[in-house]
Amino acid sequence: MHKRWIRRSLPVLVFTFIIVLYLDFQFRSLPKHNLVHDPSPDAFPICRLTAMDAQNPACNSSRNRGHPASEDGHVTQTKLKLEDIFVAVKTTGRFHKTRLALLLETWISRTKAHTFIFTDTEDEDLRSDGHNIVVTGCQSDHSQQALSCKMSAEYDGFMASDKRWFCHVDDDNYVNPEALLALLSAFPQDSDIYVGKPSLDRPITAHELLEGNATREVRFWFATGGAGFCLSRRLAEKMAPWASGLRFEETSATIRLPDDCTVGFIVEKRLGISMVHCPLFHSHLENLLLISHRSIPHQVTLSYGMFENKMNSIEVKGRFSKEEDPSRFKTVHCMLYPFTSWCP
Ligand code: UDP
Ligand code: MN
Repeated sequence: MHKRWIRRSLPVLVFTFIIVLYLDFQFRSLPKHNLVHDPSPDAFPICRLTAMDAQNPACNSSRNRGHPASEDGHVTQTKLKLEDIFVAVKTTGRFHKTRLALLLETWISRTKAHTFIFTDTEDEDLRSDGHNIVVTGCQSDHSQQALSCKMSAEYDGFMASDKRWFCHVDDDNYVNPEALLALLSAFPQDSDIYVGKPSLDRPITAHELLEGNATREVRFWFATGGAGFCLSRRLAEKMAPWASGLRFEETSATIRLPDDCTVGFIVEKRLGISMVHCPLFHSHLENLLLISHRSIPHQVTLSYGMFENKMNSIEVKGRFSKEEDPSRFKTVHCMLYPFTSWCP
């Protein structure tokens, strides 16, 4: 009786054992940075899903993500490298010494070859130091037109390059190169990605100018330029009819909104592709004190700025005092790259 029971249940047990082994193997081989579900609460997922993202098709369906390279009939692409990312920094003549110099000393020292500085004023010092500097013919002010003119130059600069991703940042942003690479590597390459962080908690409403002075109300998400954002090459190529050459400024004028809003408008309204909301980008429009010390190595961008006459910057412990390093960028850089020559 006992033996018969064993004989009957043995195949079931063996089968169960094989299933368990198979499942275990599947879980172990999941990518470390799973975009959507990260099982360990201590690890910082590349992009943690918020309630908002859960409704965002770009985050949880393949509709806007394109298809795996093999299905598309393309050759499977090699692993993304930091040099494959075109980093565009927007600046202006009067900020070369007051803002840009800090970036050159810190993160740009690690990304120099593929970082492009878009400005409005020639700078021999920058050139002789071997930086990629693009002197645009744009006006040197903070107007919608001047800012769109520079964004347009950034976009065209990327399109003329052989890089796989375009990332824009302002001259008051710290870019964490490794975190940026981890973020972009976690997306299916060769897909349509627009990733960044909105500064509003709802889509922006614009009044698109139509022919004959009529207007149409449009709503869309956009990634705030002051926190930085990225576009995959495939998506950037699809944007060309509204973004290349003079067309970017024309599109910006159609909605009467600045450069970063224009990017959101083209991606979401012209192309119907949803932005990926990622909390790892930071502008000085948010309270930077809320970023925890231990999460800093995982943040993709940081910023600093004045808010109500007080400095809004991240809280990070280190050897530099707040007077020596008000933006905290030097402190962060020494935390990430402690062997830098000038780090204490
Ligand atoms: N900027 C510019 N021309 C100006 C003022 C600003 O190109 O006359 C650039 C500046 O270098 C920065 C971005 O625009 O990269 C945003 O400027 P800022 O941080 O001063 O203002 P915010 O928009 O963040 O309040
Ligand atoms: Mn700023």
